[in-house]
Amino acid sequence: MDYREEETIVEFRNEVKGFISDNLPDDWGTLPQGEGYGETVFPITRSFQSAMAKRRWLTMAWPEEHGGLDAPHSQQMVMAEEMAYHRAPGGGGNMGVQWVGPSLMLYGTDAQKDEHLSRIADAESWWCTLYSEPGSGSDLASLQTRAVADGDDYVINGQKIWTSGAQVSDWGWLAARTDPDAPKHKGITMFMLRMDTPGITVRPLINMAEGHGFNEVFFEDVRVPKTNVVGETNRGWYHLAVALDFERSGIGAFAGGRRTVEEITEFAQDNKHLVDARPAVRYELAERAIEVEVGTYMAYRIAYMQEHGVVANHEASMSKLFGSELGQRIAKTGMDLLGMGGTVWSDGPYAALQGRLSRSYVSAVSSTIAAGTSEIQRNIIATRGLGLPRG
Ligand SMILES: Cc1cc2nc3c(=O)[nH]c(=O)nc-3n(C[C@H](O)[C@H](O)[C@H](O)COP(=O)(O)OP(=O)(O)OC[C@H]3O[C@@H](n4cnc5c(N)ncnc54)[C@H](O)[C@@H]3O)c2cc1C
Repeated sequence: MDYREEETIVEFRNEVKGFISDNLPDDWGTLPQGEGYGETVFPITRSFQSAMAKRRWLTMAWPEEHGGLDAPHSQQMVMAEEMAYHRAPGGGGNMGVQWVGPSLMLYGTDAQKDEHLSRIADAESWWCTLYSEPGSGSDLASLQTRAVADGDDYVINGQKIWTSGAQVSDWGWLAARTDPDAPKHKGITMFMLRMDTPGITVRPLINMAEGHGFNEVFFEDVRVPKTNVVGETNRGWYHLAVALDFERSGIGAFAGGRRTVEEITEFAQDNKHLVDARPAVRYELAERAIEVEVGTYMAYRIAYMQEHGVVANHEASMSKLFGSELGQRIAKTGMDLLGMGGTVWSDGPYAALQGRLSRSYVSAVSSTIAAGTSEIQRNIIATRGLGLPRG
């Protein structure tokens, strides 16, 4: 296949590149990122996304009536690809856009759509996702946070964990148990709740890359109006399963990986003594370059399927699995090249590539856990993709 982009896509790519350089500070790449929510970086993320929203780019694949552009998946993917390559905060971590909005379009009431969709599309509300609990991650349907009906409200009690961005979120997208006697998949309901509701406590969890990305969130007699239930009561698991599918098709890992492979290669060219000290790194870099190409076409295929109305399921798991494990291999290749220099953490005279590789080596560990672990992705590929029996 001779893959060539149409002229309109090439023009759009260039427009996105121009937008990124016009709307991000020159020193963006060197700012302390703090997992994206740091006090220097997060305001820039919000204003960048507001600028995107003015062009309807944040929600470009949404229907026009809900604040989108009805853009084809291929165009949305090109934007995500450029954003990831340039490490721009282009909506990848915006859960309101990624799955709250699309879920509301499918299951929300008219009042809920009126209240939330335009605010999400305009980058005015920021959302966090309250699914995982200390005892429920891969087996999410076993979640124990309780929601009990009381007059016009539900009263929520329990604990969530690993909640990314809870410390900066206006709204939470919560899965809670409404029927403890039903089989576990049949007693869950989805709620929207303001994160400043009395009874919610957010406690930071600092990860091993010294970033404050996720949190513990505690609920103590938190009252949520019944009008904030999304979809059918006790059918939340099925709504949530659809929302999880929105999460797993991204090109970001491959575009970001391509950029890092290019940087490591350039660094190796400029520091030949490091390659002489460990010649095998040339083969490793060659492997990584091939893998980035392979992954990119996996992601393109998913966009193509979606554009033709085919739901990407095990294909999306393949892309997620390959992309997250590739991120770890790329970081390791970089560290192998740098040797002792790779252990220098922060920017300084001895920190190669501003210490980025050592940081990404540590941060990449979580990518094979977040949004469904590699084992869970392999289970999906084996059963749904290859038709093998469950283990
Ligand atoms: C960076 C990051 C951000 C996150 N953000 C959020 C967020 O915003 N909101 C949220 O709700 N959650 C979030 N999470 C949590 C994430 O969804 C869970 O960590 C993930 O689903 C795994 O659950 P667990 O940590 O409980 O591990 P467990 O499910 O306890 O898994 C432990 C180990 O057992 C393996 N395992 C479990 N079940 C099976 C099986 N059936 N077959 C084979 N192996 C299995 C797993 O692969 C893993 O190796 C985030 C996690 C990370 C790392």
